[in-house]
Amino acid sequence: MVPIRTCIGCRRQAEQDDVVRFALDGDEVRLDAGRSMPGRGAWLHPERECFETALKRKAFHRAFRRQVSTEALDFDDVAHMSTTRKRVGKR
Ligand SMILES: [Zn+2]
Repeated sequence: MVPIRTCIGCRRQAEQDDVVRFALDGDEVRLDAGRSMPGRGAWLHPERECFETALKRKAFHRAFRRQVSTEALDFDDVAHMSTTRKRVGKR
């Protein structure tokens, strides 16, 4: 069974393999490419719409239950990681 996560952008449920993980580095939200960063995580579809919705709704602040900085986030990194993952994962 693949764990089910809720995308913080569209709020729909997704299998863990279909979403990317974000975690905190201090107060800064970072893409957790290896899913190895400690602490609470936030999950998001690697879709521009979900990403922008999450930023607009301050969903990251809600996910981490405090004020966090999302300035370092760039959707291009998310998109890039998701294509890399698919290439590696689907063999
Ligand atoms: Zn989504």
